[in-house]
Amino acid sequence: MLTTWSFGPTGNDAAFPALMRGGDALDGVVHAATVIEADPTIDSVGVGGLPDYDGRVSLDACVMTDPNRAGAVAFIRHYANPTQIARRVMEKTIHVTLVGDGAEDFAGREGFARAELLTQDARRVWEAWRNDPSGIDRDKYKGWIPPRNVEELRGSFVAPGAGAPGNAASAKRFPEPHHDTVGILAMDSRGRLAGACSTSGMAFKVPGRVGDSPIIGQGLYVDQEAGAACATGTGEIITGVCGSFLIVELMRRGAPPVDAVRETLERVRKRFTLLEDHQTAFCALDRHGRWASGALRPGFRHTITDDAGSRVEDPTFVLLP
Ligand code: ASP
Repeated sequence: MLTTWSFGPTGNDAAFPALMRGGDALDGVVHAATVIEADPTIDSVGVGGLPDYDGRVSLDACVMTDPNRAGAVAFIRHYANPTQIARRVMEKTIHVTLVGDGAEDFAGREGFARAELLTQDARRVWEAWRNDPSGIDRDKYKGWIPPRNVEELRGSFVAPGAGAPGNAASAKRFPEPHHDTVGILAMDSRGRLAGACSTSGMAFKVPGRVGDSPIIGQGLYVDQEAGAACATGTGEIITGVCGSFLIVELMRRGAPPVDAVRETLERVRKRFTLLEDHQTAFCALDRHGRWASGALRPGFRHTITDDAGSRVEDPTFVLLP
């Protein structure tokens, strides 16, 4: 299992024993995502995710095993398990993606229980943001207070229990915050690949905004004939390069995972006017079991889990200093 960020062991350690016993890769990634979604201390996925501009949490997720086997949901506001709902869309409908009220009606009909997603801690962080938007260039963001990556937020605000206050420039003082999208790739003992991707999206996003994470080919792509890739970071950038799809296509043409990730991040670097708070990172796993991760900027870490256990590691490379 190869998972984004340092919260990876929370999910991987729960799901991996079944994989070791011959379990299915899809079951593994869905199990891992579900555990992470349920953890209220992870403030960028599932319950406890940071809310949008109006203080309301909305979740996005997808699963995939092959071009003809994928499911996704977006703008889920009353259910805590978007990855399981995405899997149900894949298995119980002829569709790939359901959003908003329709997705929630579907979840209700399928027997999922409604849940409150906004925790007291997340509400307090949102209130701090709404009450002190100082230093924010509103013009640059077309009048909306900018949505920011959570890693920067950690340096900008004092999340309850999170230690000393800082500012955007001091974000690097928090090298391992619990943040951002979980993307999980797995290969099981029969060589089957699967992936899941789940997020509460960019903190304080414009209500209704959907990023890359639930979009097949952007936050996640899996093809048994080539490999799997997942993404985290600024969704609008990942979308612009169809990041996960691009990585899998490069692997299909023979690139090792590390080269596929590097070429994709190079394209991001060349084609976007990058702001200081833009981050993009990818994990890639090819059909031979070779894997790599790469990030645009420092700060990203991945979790790798195999028969030797889980390790939280720096990415294979970082493109920009
Ligand atoms: N990619 C996610 C989104 O744009 C957020 C993140 O991974 O930081 O919604």
